[in-house]
Amino acid sequence: MANQNEQPLDLYAPVSALRGVSTVRAGLFAKLGVHTLYDLLTFFPRDYEDRTRLLDIAQLRPDEPACFEAMVVSSPRLSRIRKGLDITRVQVADATGRLTLVFFNRPYLADSLHYGESYRFYGTLNADGAAQVTNPVFEPAERAGTVTGRLFPIYSLTAGLSNNVIIQCVRQALDACCELLPELLPQSVRAEYGLCDAQTAYRTVHTPQDAAALQQARRRLVFEEFFVFSAGLQLVRSERRVQHAVVISSGALPEFYAALPYRLTAAQEKVLGQITHDLASGTPMNRLVQGDVGSGKTAVAAAAAFLAARGGVQTALMAPTEILAEQHYKTLTALLAPLGVTVALLTGSMTAAQKREVKARLADGTAQVVVGTHALITADVEFAELGLVIADEQHRFGVAQRARLSGKGESPHLLVMSATPIPRTLALIAYGELDVSTIDELPPGRQPVETFLVDESYRRRLNAFVQKQCDEGGQVYIVCPAVEESELESLKSAEVWAQTLQAAVFPQLRVGLLHGKMKACDKEDVMARFARHEIDVLVCTTVIEVGVDVPNANLILIENADRFGLSQLHQLRGRVGRGARKSYCVLVSSTKNPDTLERLRTLCRSSDGFAIAQKDLALRGPGDFFGSRQHGLPLLRAAALEMDLKTLEQAQQAAAQALGAPGWQEDAEYAPLLRRIGVLFETAPVALN
Ligand code: ADP
Ligand code: MG
Repeated sequence: MANQNEQPLDLYAPVSALRGVSTVRAGLFAKLGVHTLYDLLTFFPRDYEDRTRLLDIAQLRPDEPACFEAMVVSSPRLSRIRKGLDITRVQVADATGRLTLVFFNRPYLADSLHYGESYRFYGTLNADGAAQVTNPVFEPAERAGTVTGRLFPIYSLTAGLSNNVIIQCVRQALDACCELLPELLPQSVRAEYGLCDAQTAYRTVHTPQDAAALQQARRRLVFEEFFVFSAGLQLVRSERRVQHAVVISSGALPEFYAALPYRLTAAQEKVLGQITHDLASGTPMNRLVQGDVGSGKTAVAAAAAFLAARGGVQTALMAPTEILAEQHYKTLTALLAPLGVTVALLTGSMTAAQKREVKARLADGTAQVVVGTHALITADVEFAELGLVIADEQHRFGVAQRARLSGKGESPHLLVMSATPIPRTLALIAYGELDVSTIDELPPGRQPVETFLVDESYRRRLNAFVQKQCDEGGQVYIVCPAVEESELESLKSAEVWAQTLQAAVFPQLRVGLLHGKMKACDKEDVMARFARHEIDVLVCTTVIEVGVDVPNANLILIENADRFGLSQLHQLRGRVGRGARKSYCVLVSSTKNPDTLERLRTLCRSSDGFAIAQKDLALRGPGDFFGSRQHGLPLLRAAALEMDLKTLEQAQQAAAQALGAPGWQEDAEYAPLLRRIGVLFETAPVALN
């Protein structure tokens, strides 16, 4: 038992309360998002090694890790190769054959592997044909079952924190407080959907006995996560429905139309109609506007902000990056300033004095519209009367962040804009608390972006193509997956590639560099120069992924394209095809993997973001969708385990049913669920308890 002589541990004890966890180690755990024992127990293995196969030595195959039981038939022999490298060799044998085990830097191995005794090993036969296994793990045969003979959990690691340390800590945490884990699923739900209890599930997912039990445990955990999430969204939603919101009339709309440099498309008008209906309804709007890249979501948002200003309330528009915030600020200023609406910008990189000035204007109401990044949701930003909150490209924001921003006003209207099409099946989880509008039409005159998939053998032709676009007055994005050169992988890095291109390939062109690690003011400067056409070729990372609008850019070249998800590639492609020029997207990949190639070809064939997302879902599965931070659902941890759509749908159905029953909030069985939702959504405890 852990901590026998000390205080009993509870779920919210810090990991440093565990044996063997120093302050330094606790810091490493913090890097993984693990602070408390509860965090540790919900830090699920990212994978498992199947160490259940037990073979005879004669049956071992290269590249197929397996367990084997053998007797040590020679004393371990240590040889020093050079400073910092020594090798220990041991002979082992069973009835079918003999092997040499090779260990690197294990000088004290002789203490744990004894001549004449039997051990259970797990390792892989070397591929070079010699009867050797390098660095196997092992344990005494008569006490086997800890590192061999089972499904072995593999955790996500960080430098300095090994898998074994995490395993030890998880074990301690399980022993200390598994019984304290809250049961979030009511008995009736578990019975109906055949789910095991929480304790069994957590124990099993960390220390599975076999594949079938693991499968059960994962299903239960994924179900639980979606159940909690769906229930939380339903609560947020129903709570908002009974609130009152300022009534904003659409009477001033003709004034906006008259000043607009173009006519709205029918799809924009339809969606704006839904928005004006919400704004005038007296209850807070909760609307998501989905529209493919370039469909003109900003104009719709501007119209809503304009109506809010005429209605006497303020609008806050929140963007995921400073570049986008600045761009929106310019667009909104161009559209709204001629109509007498004052627009302000508030970002983290502004000077303290600038921020103070903007905040003062927000507090006294002289700034009617403010555009900003996360800085908008910091505690000291106050509004005279915040009536409308617009979140752009919301997949970067969590539900919790939206809730916090909405909390700044007296239940303001909420408009969320997203260019990341989420397949309908997943939309309920991603946007469960929102009504959905779709702009399903592009402004007239757009030509589809021609998309090609090529490998390195096309490099010369590609360079010539880049040169040609620039010679004809166009501009080019070159997207790299990494910022710096990495030793481990041969990924194109933006920094080095930009230098190479400028020096060796395009000496007459102006090559620029843009990546996320640059200072905000430098980023802005580069982006502004690209927009003014003082840069021909912009080598960048995915910082340009969302929203950036330079209509003169007509070619985007994506290096190591296999590194990106389909939806992300589609977003990147949306950076071109914004102006009158014929536009191209070239995906460069040297992958030979047929599945990956098939995935990339989807993009060459289709320009429909929703169809692409659907394909992404089919090819990679929903777990991948939720698992990657790209899709921005940080509340979900188990979902990356192994989810299927059926579990998702069942959990949603179960949550709807459970919360539909009268009086459930008084039922003690639901208390842990309500507490968990309160923590996850960071909403007012009064509302959720
Ligand atoms: P997104 O939906 O990707 O945010 P934007 O709002 O940035 O799209 O619009 C893309 C481009 O299309 C902008 O340059 C904008 O001025 C232009 N645009 C928007 N609506 C129309 C329209 N109805 N007619 C013509 N151009 C439009
Ligand atoms: Mg946009």
